[in-house]
Amino acid sequence: MNLEIIKAIKGLLDIPQKIVIIPHKNPDGDAIGSTLGLWHFLKGKGQDATIIVPNDFPKFLKWMPGSEQIVNFERDSSVAKSLINKASVIFTLDFNHLGRIGQLQPLLENSSATFVMIDHHQEPDDYAKIMYSDVSMSSTCEMVFNVIEGLDELESITPELAISLYTGIMTDTGSFKYSSTTSRTHLVVAKLIERGAKNTEAHNKVYDTNTPSRLHLLGCALKNMVILEEYHTAFITLSQDELDTYDYKKGDTEGFVNYGLTLEGIVFAVIFIENREEGIVKISFRSEGDFSVNEFARAHFNGGGHTNAAGGRSDVSIEETISLFKSLLPQYKDDLNA
Ligand code: 5GP
Ligand code: MN
Repeated sequence: MNLEIIKAIKGLLDIPQKIVIIPHKNPDGDAIGSTLGLWHFLKGKGQDATIIVPNDFPKFLKWMPGSEQIVNFERDSSVAKSLINKASVIFTLDFNHLGRIGQLQPLLENSSATFVMIDHHQEPDDYAKIMYSDVSMSSTCEMVFNVIEGLDELESITPELAISLYTGIMTDTGSFKYSSTTSRTHLVVAKLIERGAKNTEAHNKVYDTNTPSRLHLLGCALKNMVILEEYHTAFITLSQDELDTYDYKKGDTEGFVNYGLTLEGIVFAVIFIENREEGIVKISFRSEGDFSVNEFARAHFNGGGHTNAAGGRSDVSIEETISLFKSLLPQYKDDLNA
């Protein structure tokens, strides 16, 4: 990785700092894994560091070492505010613009701390003084590993740090199968296992901790799936009533969108999830091949992400959202048939 970035990070960490580390709202495995990985590293160097998440994260990530010390802004806003006010350095991980951190946005905009971005999403904003942005990376966790390696600190990777980064790489690459997975990703993962990451444990704790109600919700989602062969598209809807029926818990719908892509011939998969409390429909987009869901989400649904995985939202009803979605497909017919 770029030597200038490493030099700049080294310069910051050569002196004691008050550090805050922040991932995007609705943090996923990569967001939690990368912030915890960096946090373990900074603590090991004797730095004063705290992770603040904009809101809660799923139970299937709460086994990760150190996760119990994460400050949830929604629950402990005064603690979080005071930490941000005092921070001399703020690391922002796994997101590309401050709009991705919800209610934390104004606090960061008013902070005079030195910002460091580590992120792999497309079209990043330039709010950070030190910017390590690389859209070719599998995950932010792989980038945190690169930083530690760049600082010549691989020996300081503990098993706790290793399992954090391993888990985020695992979840963001769909268990090492997405096209963002490179030989380098596997080399990094191998190093993490050497440094004590218990790989089977990570898979079991993330993927084999289903509840019966989550599987029933999955059944409902799969029954609701609509296949539009003409557009090589499959979409799923989940209404708030359906979520309530199956006792929805945060994270329960993680991965559902991918089932559409398992159908032969389908290259575009979408899930629409109604969120009555926020008055929005949360949307996840996935694709196979060249069709850019990042561009699609950006153009029509106030979102973004990567070429093959993106998210967005809609402020109208779920029915209207789906009508809008369907009305957009004809203009993408050629791209979806490519
Ligand atoms: P997911 O569909 O799993 O929530 O997210 C897929 C990818 O898109 C992730 O990299 C995530 O960070 C990004 N993403 C999800 N929702 C949004 C959004 O509302 N806006 C933007 N810019 N990116 C999003
Ligand atoms: Mn990520």
